[in-house]
Amino acid sequence: RLPFSRVTEEDLAFFRSVLPGRAVTDPDLLESSNQDWLKSVRGSSELLLRPRTSEEVSQILKRYCNHRNLAVNPQGGNTGLVGGSVPVHDEIILSTALMKDIRSFDSVSGILTCQAGCVLEDLSLYLEDRDHIMPLDLGAKGSCHIGGNVATNAGGLRLLRYGSLHGTVLGLEVVLADGRVLDCLATLRKDNTGYDLKQLFIGSEGTLGVITAVSILCPRKPRSVKVAFLGCDTFEQLLKTFQLCRAMLGEILSAYEFLDSECMRLLNTHLQLSNPIRDCRFYIVMETSGSDPTHDEEKLHSFLEAAVTSSLVTEGTVATEDSKIKALWALRERITEALTHHGYTYKYDVSLPVEQLYQLVTDMRGHLQGRAKSVVGYGHVGDGNLHLNISSQAKDPALLAAIEPFVYEWTARHRGSVSAEHGLGLKKRNYIYYSKSSQAVALMGQLKALLDPKGILNPYKTLPDEQ
Ligand SMILES: Cc1cc2nc3c(=O)[nH]c(=O)nc-3n(C[C@H](O)[C@H](O)[C@H](O)COP(=O)(O)OP(=O)(O)OC[C@H]3O[C@@H](n4cnc5c(N)ncnc54)[C@H](O)[C@@H]3O)c2cc1C
Repeated sequence: RLPFSRVTEEDLAFFRSVLPGRAVTDPDLLESSNQDWLKSVRGSSELLLRPRTSEEVSQILKRYCNHRNLAVNPQGGNTGLVGGSVPVHDEIILSTALMKDIRSFDSVSGILTCQAGCVLEDLSLYLEDRDHIMPLDLGAKGSCHIGGNVATNAGGLRLLRYGSLHGTVLGLEVVLADGRVLDCLATLRKDNTGYDLKQLFIGSEGTLGVITAVSILCPRKPRSVKVAFLGCDTFEQLLKTFQLCRAMLGEILSAYEFLDSECMRLLNTHLQLSNPIRDCRFYIVMETSGSDPTHDEEKLHSFLEAAVTSSLVTEGTVATEDSKIKALWALRERITEALTHHGYTYKYDVSLPVEQLYQLVTDMRGHLQGRAKSVVGYGHVGDGNLHLNISSQAKDPALLAAIEPFVYEWTARHRGSVSAEHGLGLKKRNYIYYSKSSQAVALMGQLKALLDPKGILNPYKTLPDEQ
């Protein structure tokens, strides 16, 4: 534990005066906020603060935490997968759960402005009624907050089509460690007046400021959405199918995801989800979204015919109705959940040149020689992002020593990134040098010192120990 102050009765009195009934100290209520979604990291915070406005966040930080040297852990939906969302020791948890106001939506430009605590799925439902969609979608949508999504620069299932949050987020309001409210909440697509400061906070994992509001560019709701679930016998065929798909579907391709046969087995065993096609080694979930159902149907049909006649795809099924689309997407979205029932999971989220994406899974299986309960691969092929998950019955330090640093060295050797979309949090921060130069990491440390000189915001996260 770094030498931060400990919360006293006097501190509590202050927090209770600023947040009446919203400064929580009941250990039962704190339990779920102290533990991460994977149940792999547990903090021992004794105080959970639930502000409703940016002014309240500012008061908490300015008048208090910064001045009193109290460490703070910003928390959204607590679905993060790298231990960044929960305290390590007794940091105060600052939750955005009550910051749920939608401030405005402009249906001409598609720009939504809302508070950071809005749940991603609630925003999607709000927009659906207004003929728009969120530019991002992920399996944790029922719990994660838009502020948490921005803080982690979440990727998800629509990145292939709509790009990353670095492009779709137009503005942010951020409360800095000393309580200053930084208003960068622009709703403009173009604004080259000086440095684009909001970009610094996208992916900063709560270490540079607390995001309190977001403005984001939302696409029109596509008039026709179709999902195909396809099977391939080799990963090479899966990649060739991707190339064919890009060539033949072009602008209507909106997702190209994959899972291997071991993932399918876990979905069957732990969630009773059944395979809609015959058993194959690899499965593809691909989606088209367009504005003309007949045109999209024709394009998809020609693509599927070409993929089957050239023997790239051995089996497939297509869904056009909502319920079947959801059922096919569940096979991709619920793998993380299936893994939690399978034992303790060591999770890796790497970017690689797409042709090497699955080689890491194969090499890891060879390297571990049956020591793990399972080694599975799935992810976002379209973005070159592999999720490699290795399960054991329980935490197993010997297994971990066999996995790391092997996995990071392998990734660096193939010029990949050791964190494609989950961030570094607590668990991965010391592996940053596998993907970033020491100059880049040193500059990150200087930025942190500039914005948060006392280091009170999410200490022990993102930056390596020596920073
Ligand atoms: C089933 C499942 C599927 C997932 N799929 C994906 C996926 O496809 N793609 C992907 O990228 N991730 C995925 N994730 C990971 C996770 O959902 C995302 O990282 C998500 O964006 C985290 O949002 P959250 O609100 O839960 O943030 P939290 O988990 O609460 O916090 C995550 C980090 O952001 C910081 N933070 C949170 N809110 C704020 C704020 N307002 N201001 C400053 N810092 C803040 C926290 O301190 C922490 O460091 C998945 C997780 C699960 C459980």
